[in-house]
Amino acid sequence: MNVADNIQQITDTIPEGVKLVAVSKFHPAGVVQQAYDAGQRIFGESRMQEIDKKHTELPGDIEWHFIGHLQTNKVKFILPYTHTIHSIDSWKLLAEIEKQASAINKPVCCLLEIHIAAEDAKYGLTFDECRKFLAEGLWKDCKFAYIGGLMGMATYTEDEDQIRKEFRSLKQFFDEVKSGFFSEYDNFSELSMGMSGDYKIAIEEGSTMIRVGSSIFGEREY
Ligand SMILES: *Cc1c(COP(=O)(O)O)cnc(C)c1O
Repeated sequence: MNVADNIQQITDTIPEGVKLVAVSKFHPAGVVQQAYDAGQRIFGESRMQEIDKKHTELPGDIEWHFIGHLQTNKVKFILPYTHTIHSIDSWKLLAEIEKQASAINKPVCCLLEIHIAAEDAKYGLTFDECRKFLAEGLWKDCKFAYIGGLMGMATYTEDEDQIRKEFRSLKQFFDEVKSGFFSEYDNFSELSMGMSGDYKIAIEEGSTMIRVGSSIFGEREY
């Protein structure tokens, strides 16, 4: 498994304008450094303790993305070095990010996590819940925690038609809320969808940000 080759192979095939988030969770700082040395600058982590440790061990110009479920009591620890949070699914969480971000005067990109998979998931908003959340409008008062787009995960299946259908529905929903709620908010621009197994389909369906772990770093040992 050559991390540099894997990065190269992926960046060679993704269109300009699609960002690669290298998902380094469960992999040691040493291999993250190899990806960094190959030119990769955006990394995704899903656990507070892990991102907290790694960000101190690795170069300061890394753009750290938090992609996992985030508890409100962890927000203040990760905010100082976190650029984007992909997993906003409640006002409570967004409000806490706003509070902590304003305390350190730092804008933070927040993506709303949308539940599109057929599997039951504990996290993520349904389309209707998201419409309601946006219509309530509390997010408009946030000065630092800005809504930069949406994130979603397709069903874990071999059925490419189903994956495509789910990504397509998320892109459609993205367009709907962009014109409905964010027409005056240029920041609302990212559609984070696609992982190792399905990022090619996701890009065809309009992804602007793919989150790829095992195709870069190999299997994770939990
Ligand atoms: C782990 C994870 C990924 C990366 O998954 P791979 O299949 O290894 O590419 C992407 N997104 C989220 C939210 C994850 O938790």
